[in-house]
Amino acid sequence: MKHLIKILPALGDAGIGLIVSAMMIIWLDVPATFLFVLWVLAWAYLPDLDGAFHFIKTGKAVADLENGRDHREGLHYPLIWTVMFGGLIYFFGINVWLISAYIAIMLHFLHDMIGIGWGIQVFAPFDWGSYKLFSKKWVSADVSLTPAVTRYSKEELREALMKYGEADWIERYFCKLTHVSVVDYGLFIIGVLSISIALI
Ligand SMILES: [Zn+2]
Repeated sequence: MKHLIKILPALGDAGIGLIVSAMMIIWLDVPATFLFVLWVLAWAYLPDLDGAFHFIKTGKAVADLENGRDHREGLHYPLIWTVMFGGLIYFFGINVWLISAYIAIMLHFLHDMIGIGWGIQVFAPFDWGSYKLFSKKWVSADVSLTPAVTRYSKEELREALMKYGEADWIERYFCKLTHVSVVDYGLFIIGVLSISIALI
């Protein structure tokens, strides 16, 4: 059970991947294949692969609270991905595989900027500050209309993780109904429903 609850935070991104696949199949008449759904799901998860590098470096998969290091420091760079996808579209032409991958990865980033965590480095490599949406500053899991944007400098992010990081975040926010779990489980349920409709 203790290991099983670790998959709970992954449900939101699964929902994003399934919703994007379903919308592409329904709206753009993409052939409904397992490979296509798997492709979009892979992109909805891909940025979190930096958790693996983080684990090798720190022994912690998500955040190293003692040393103030977040795993979102290796692949969570929307601007760099946008340039990369721009290049791919320039060379290979616009096609549903690239467009779906781009939408899925950008929705992953948007999801990471709302609710739990300390945001992501949206403007890297020009600005290494982390941006979070609709959250009070110095709160690890929050949804509030104001301020709309919160920025943590690299030093502030380190301080936030060390002072306010919660080691038991899965139990605290995903093992019961909270604003974080409701959004993520909602995304997952909508994802399962929409892909079911798309595949019928
Ligand atoms: Zn992420």
